[in-house]
Amino acid sequence: MIYNMYSKRKGFEILCPLGSYPLFLRKNKDDKEDMIKFIAEEGTRHKTSSLYVHIPFCDSLCNFCCFYRGLLEETQANRYLDALKKEIVRYSDTEYIRSSSFASIYIGGGTPTSLRTEQLTDLLSLLKERFKIRSDAEITVETTTHNAEGGKLEALYENGVNRLSFGVQTFKDSIRNILTLTDTRSEVISVIRAAQEIGFENIDIDLMYNLPGQSMDDWKMDLRQAAELELESISPNPLFVARGTAFAKQIATGEIPPRSGDQTEIDMYLLAINELENAGYRQQNLVHFVLPEKEHLYARMRFGSQDCLALGTSGGGFLGAYLYGNVRGINRYIEKIESANAEFPVNICAKLTAEELMHKYMIWGLHSIEVSKNAFWELFGVELTDVFPEQIESLERRGLIESDGSKIALTTAGKVWCTNVAEEFCPEKYVTIFEKMFGD
Ligand code: SF4
Repeated sequence: MIYNMYSKRKGFEILCPLGSYPLFLRKNKDDKEDMIKFIAEEGTRHKTSSLYVHIPFCDSLCNFCCFYRGLLEETQANRYLDALKKEIVRYSDTEYIRSSSFASIYIGGGTPTSLRTEQLTDLLSLLKERFKIRSDAEITVETTTHNAEGGKLEALYENGVNRLSFGVQTFKDSIRNILTLTDTRSEVISVIRAAQEIGFENIDIDLMYNLPGQSMDDWKMDLRQAAELELESISPNPLFVARGTAFAKQIATGEIPPRSGDQTEIDMYLLAINELENAGYRQQNLVHFVLPEKEHLYARMRFGSQDCLALGTSGGGFLGAYLYGNVRGINRYIEKIESANAEFPVNICAKLTAEELMHKYMIWGLHSIEVSKNAFWELFGVELTDVFPEQIESLERRGLIESDGSKIALTTAGKVWCTNVAEEFCPEKYVTIFEKMFGD
């Protein structure tokens, strides 16, 4: 039953872009101008926000990756960082950002640690100087295990970074080779141990499943190895093979073994839930499993639809009722920032109506597995069950969600089919556009 609850399973990988509702419906220039005016003039009444900074460089490119990133080149990186600093200053001079405080910062990419130590510490210093960052803020930096050497992690730790997220993907060397990951299992483990010795008390690793040539036993060994390292957070993600990529072609020509089908992917996700819960982790959201006393605050804030100021090329943020996406392309981003009228690098922006905010709240809320009925009422002044009666009745009847007086929550089947479930809270016309952009 759990294998065929809809005619076609939509993958985890499109759940985040689905959360950009209703951005692709409205490329409205007025909304962008409205947003700039709004943040210049309006205060937040001391709203707590999160901050995302995108570093689009890596020092080697993994064949499977479909994030927005490019190979590090020193001159371009310097120009990009100069532009980023200008963007930071530009936002921090607005009334809206001046009156916000930041409880979580996420520096992602790409690989932020492909930058030199001084570039990273410079960036952190400027963030601290220009934004009101709470003393207990969670500050995460994404990294890999092959460029965290030479005192870089120590410098991050000394500069207030308190959470690392390592892209490990798998511990199995033969599969690491297929994925063009340049270091070995034992090197990966020793870098993680070194980070623990430095003092990091919140370390996350990304693992991937349904990889080419990966058996169920391989996956179990990866999960057990991660748990053995006593990490605070483990994030299993299914492999997504993007259309038209070199990786997709290598699979098509047989150069790389194919990944297994949906049924195996579902079984591997269920195995992850089971193994990690048995190892003492709690499932914070669809992909983050954390030790009981820990959490990934940035994820909680983002999935709770709280404000997020996103900086850097391709960053996607949410301020007030404005959802926006920055220009994609390192050079295009630099040009925007350097332009004569000192623009904000926003490419696409939508001011959400009350109805759209409710849809968005549900789509993102389902990332967090459960949605609070009280929080919905406090935000919108209406009962969640009055706004979405048909969806809730139907999903509950089919065993995809369960609800009580205080919340609705995904069941195990709901977690497996989460993107399909989230789509039910998305208006049909958006799903149609979305299908064209991201469907098979
Ligand atoms: S290091 Fe991370 S961001 Fe860079 S190419 Fe590999 S998977 Fe992508």
